[in-house]
Amino acid sequence: MKKVVFIFGLDGATWKLLDPWLKASHLPFLQTLAQRGFTATLKSTIPPLTSTAWTTFQTGVTPEKHHIFGFFHPSGRLYNSHDIHYPKFWQTAANYGKRSAIINMPLTYPIQPNNGCLVSSFLTPPGADFAYPTQLQLKLLKSHYQIDLPSNHHGFAPETPPSPSAKRTLHRQILSLIASREKAAITIAKQEAWDIFFVLFKATDLSQHFFWDAKETLAVYQRIDQAIAKILHAYKTAHPKTKVNILIISDHGFHPISKYDVALYPLLAKLGFLPQRPNWYLKFLRGLRKISKLKYTTKLTFLSQPQVFSYGLSWPDASPNTIAKLANTLAKVTYRGQKIFQKIKIVPPNSTTLLRILWLTNPTFAPNPDPLSGQLIYPKITSLKAHHYSDPRGILIAAGPQIQPKQKRQFLHLVDLAGNILSLLGIPAPTHSNGRLYPQLFKFPQRQLSSQRKTPAEITKPKSKPEDDALVTQRLRQLGYVD
Ligand SMILES: [Zn+2]
Repeated sequence: MKKVVFIFGLDGATWKLLDPWLKASHLPFLQTLAQRGFTATLKSTIPPLTSTAWTTFQTGVTPEKHHIFGFFHPSGRLYNSHDIHYPKFWQTAANYGKRSAIINMPLTYPIQPNNGCLVSSFLTPPGADFAYPTQLQLKLLKSHYQIDLPSNHHGFAPETPPSPSAKRTLHRQILSLIASREKAAITIAKQEAWDIFFVLFKATDLSQHFFWDAKETLAVYQRIDQAIAKILHAYKTAHPKTKVNILIISDHGFHPISKYDVALYPLLAKLGFLPQRPNWYLKFLRGLRKISKLKYTTKLTFLSQPQVFSYGLSWPDASPNTIAKLANTLAKVTYRGQKIFQKIKIVPPNSTTLLRILWLTNPTFAPNPDPLSGQLIYPKITSLKAHHYSDPRGILIAAGPQIQPKQKRQFLHLVDLAGNILSLLGIPAPTHSNGRLYPQLFKFPQRQLSSQRKTPAEITKPKSKPEDDALVTQRLRQLGYVD
């Protein structure tokens, strides 16, 4: 019997919510899977951000290697599929003749042809081509497929509390997004006996940002629990001669919104690593930003040598000594007895990225990279209820014919999954991968299929237009990713 791998991405799903809801039997399908197979804490990337983490998942390489940090390229434009320079695991599998359906994987826009089908993600500008092959796109358009929430969704900004009716509308829109994804996934699942099937539900992340652990988010998880069961049922009914390995994964954890904003430029200035900027100078620069419509902090590189991002800094001219001293100093900084950073990571200088330090703040402190912020630490003002910049602990639930059941919760790394998924299909993990295999958890086939290697199909590269970025940026702003 043919063994296949189905992967369901629940963006930002966390054990903080899942554990109590599984215990209370609110999610019957996920509960059954967890009992039959194993569960794991899935350690994400640093930074634990959607685009960084899903890129690591699809390539099996670390952020220091693939260079996708956050949503924006240092030049200020959005990252897209052409910025990923390593083969995705389904492309490697295609070299061995494996067919895949990849639905809503982040950073797959602009669309690259696939041995199977592909639907791009929420970073796709409205109106752009979003699916391969074209017949699939036509089918999805006909059924009013929603890639993401409508761009005018909920109509509130992070700094204004939403009205009860705006919240109700948003919740309805999130549920309708799940229904649309379920319908498309069922149609695609029935179509062919795919070797690899991936579908991402972004609804968990959206609901947690706005509602965190409230009943709205439970309803979202329950709806997804049903959707997963239905998609698998549709596939099994259409292709009874397959055995399905199921992986439920998330790209990072989540935590209640931080109490304080920490402005990183003033912090570095206070620690003596940057010149202090007098208030009149900051006011002058703020005025300049308004006039020149410079939207992103990343464009204000003229301010100083080190360039600060929410997740770390680049500082091309700094000596290894200065970097070590800075890392050491940051690791010790406290505010009211609490450490601001939970992790400081020095990026090896031989790495091709310009980043020198990556950091993870404690959940109490939200990193703010705005170079024009005058204040150092101040109460966070936002209508968002939760975020994930400080929690890299995602989830994994695995069950199926090639999964070893385990009682105890395991600890795995997101970067390892690509290689393990390929190995489940009898394909050796690619040499560029940073991942490790878990033979104690997955039953890999004895014989690897390396003799069946085919030449990879040539990939055409359509261009994304810069004006597309504006609409996507507006959405990211609503989720608190852009100031
Ligand atoms: Zn995410």
